[in-house]
Amino acid sequence: MASNPRKSSESVSMFGSYRLFRLFGFEVKLDLSWLLLALLITWTLAAGMFPADYPDLSKKTYWWMGVAGAVGIFFSIVFHELSHSLVARRYDLPIRGITLFIFGGVAQMEHEPPSPKAEFFMAIAGPLASFLLAFLFFQLETLATSGAWPTAIIGIAHYLGIVNMVVAVFNLVPAFPLDGGRMLRALLWQWKKNLLDATRLSSQIGAGFGLVLMILGVLAFIQGNFIGGMWWFLIGAFLRGAARTSYQQMVLHEMIQGEPASRFMRREPVTVPPSINVRQLLEDYVYRYHFRMFPVVEDAKLLGCITLEDVKKIPSEQWPQKQVRDLSTPPSSANTISPDMDTAKLLSAMNRPDAPVCFMVAEDERLVGVISLRDLREIIELKLEIEQSPG
Ligand SMILES: [Zn+2]
Repeated sequence: MASNPRKSSESVSMFGSYRLFRLFGFEVKLDLSWLLLALLITWTLAAGMFPADYPDLSKKTYWWMGVAGAVGIFFSIVFHELSHSLVARRYDLPIRGITLFIFGGVAQMEHEPPSPKAEFFMAIAGPLASFLLAFLFFQLETLATSGAWPTAIIGIAHYLGIVNMVVAVFNLVPAFPLDGGRMLRALLWQWKKNLLDATRLSSQIGAGFGLVLMILGVLAFIQGNFIGGMWWFLIGAFLRGAARTSYQQMVLHEMIQGEPASRFMRREPVTVPPSINVRQLLEDYVYRYHFRMFPVVEDAKLLGCITLEDVKKIPSEQWPQKQVRDLSTPPSSANTISPDMDTAKLLSAMNRPDAPVCFMVAEDERLVGVISLRDLREIIELKLEIEQSPG
């Protein structure tokens, strides 16, 4: 469906994702939310759609058809995302993997496409793949009908043909970050020669389209189409969020690329001496400043850092005895960076699942600042607020 650049799997995941298999070198992952969707599809097909369209089959057959329908959708979406990924690879754009979640699939790009042309072909590959699948499933249906194959096969082929058609058409809607929106962005990019402007315009259209879907969902709900209405509303809300996030990520990327981390860090952070005990740390620092990490400094020398996680491991009766120096972690590349590190590189380090909440910025064993993902987010919000203010 959508291919989101530099979006970590955590940000699309609601429940956590699981690796399934590798395909052409791409890792295919399944978000647990997809299982919910699969159950919903199977049930809708087996209990509602197939019995209505193909009466006189056994109950057991309907359930098998339902399962086959859900599995068929799974492979259809993987095929769609795979086609994006293969074209991306052709343009040397690294793809982290393919994740399936409740609203479809995401091919996770590491960064923005290199040119409007690359973006256009990458985007159009998905809908083309879905159209191809729709054609093949309709061919299978024709073949099955003329060969008098079992009704179950005819039914599944027909259903998957329609689903792939819908996936192709829906994704062609010019609402960023849907494929159609990416194609629109590529055209605007080519025309205006400015990726940021192109992204802003196409994501505004995307957010508008999301809002329209949400309103249609509410109207359908009022008219008694509860499940359909709910789905339109959720998909609309998701699209709106995705459009906004994509643009913000883009602005952030433009802002930080090639800039040293020292430009965005917090200067003169609150530090703690190594000699205080855990109780003093909590009372005089954690409850007072509400930070989750404090650099440990003695005689202007950086000794390490102590985090809330370190403290949580200690039972409360030991708080008066344990000193900060016993619990702190010495500075290393896992928690400390140099002030001239490229902020774009720092951001991808911050997005790793085991990354610390906050990095220390140090030069020659001297602490010069701290920087966290939250700091970067706050800066971007300020920038967007200023951009959107009139005049
Ligand atoms: Zn797509």
